Amino acid sequence: MQQTLVRRETGRTIGGARRAGPSNLLITHHSKLVTRYFSLYTFHSLSGFLRLPNSTLEGYCKGRIGVILISVMSSPGLVDSHLHLQDYGQQADIGAIIRQAEAVGVSHLVCNGTSEEDWPKLLDLAEKYPQIVPCFGLHPWFVNRRSEGWISILEDFLQNTVSGVGEIGLDWLHIPPDKELQIEVFRIQLELARRFDRPVMVHCVKAWGMLMDILRDEPELPRGMLIHAYGGPADLVEPLVRMGAYFTFSGTVLLENRKRAREALAAVPIDRLLMETDAPYMLPPEKYRNYQVDSSDGEVLNHPANLPGVLKGIAELLQMRHEELQEKVWQNAQTFYGPILANRGRD
Ligand SMILES: [Zn+2]
Repeated sequence: MQQTLVRRETGRTIGGARRAGPSNLLITHHSKLVTRYFSLYTFHSLSGFLRLPNSTLEGYCKGRIGVILISVMSSPGLVDSHLHLQDYGQQADIGAIIRQAEAVGVSHLVCNGTSEEDWPKLLDLAEKYPQIVPCFGLHPWFVNRRSEGWISILEDFLQNTVSGVGEIGLDWLHIPPDKELQIEVFRIQLELARRFDRPVMVHCVKAWGMLMDILRDEPELPRGMLIHAYGGPADLVEPLVRMGAYFTFSGTVLLENRKRAREALAAVPIDRLLMETDAPYMLPPEKYRNYQVDSSDGEVLNHPANLPGVLKGIAELLQMRHEELQEKVWQNAQTFYGPILANRGRD
């Protein structure tokens, strides 16, 4: 399968990203990509309708003939639903990290951009590695660093790539939080997600009341949202589910003292659960940590290849077989990400 991000008619640079030369990976014939995009939508829906747990149906309509190719994959993959590969620093061997993750079954890496500075870095990585599912957003920690033209830059990234909107949200712990500005920036990006019909990756820390107020006030998100590393109370899970939310719990839920997070995990319907490492951050407890990256300044960093260990730990908490949980989470990922996932990954 040809791997590409969907970039529209021209290969113009976006977001001020400088390129050494034209990117053949990204500049592909527009009509072919539109056909592919919509055929993937169709077959993604068909796959769900037919309830084929181990299968991915993938269709291509080629020209007027409308040839349909259906491929059936025998085993579920694993999607790391939240990480920041661009944050390992320039010295890191990202290719090796991705290969190690892939070797343990992690087929897709949903990398979240957080600021105008890191959007081009993420795009460069996504061009290079088909395993990366990119998301572009302005994180609440970085709202003060935005440029005057940040909205149109973000619009360009979203318009020219098949990507999610994230990481965006509210963080009242960050000192000093500019709450009004965070709210304004968050609402603008929710509008972009609706306009571009994209899923949203939400970061929320100590701002649950305001998050709920905003979500109730805003029109519905057509592709739903993922609340990453969910730290809210268990009783907010159900209203969030009604608003289209999916949930991840990073490896830190496996720490013995995370009683509140474990209660919330137990409250999440199994068809709304996804998995993340948040690498290079949020190291899981040692028992579930088989991989790490040592930074140049001696810091121990998390690795996406820890995802199977995290999944096993969460399966233990849920008293499920890990194979069963992996299959559920794989189905959930297909449903939640839809075409932005189907468009990525390696053959
Ligand atoms: Zn993050």
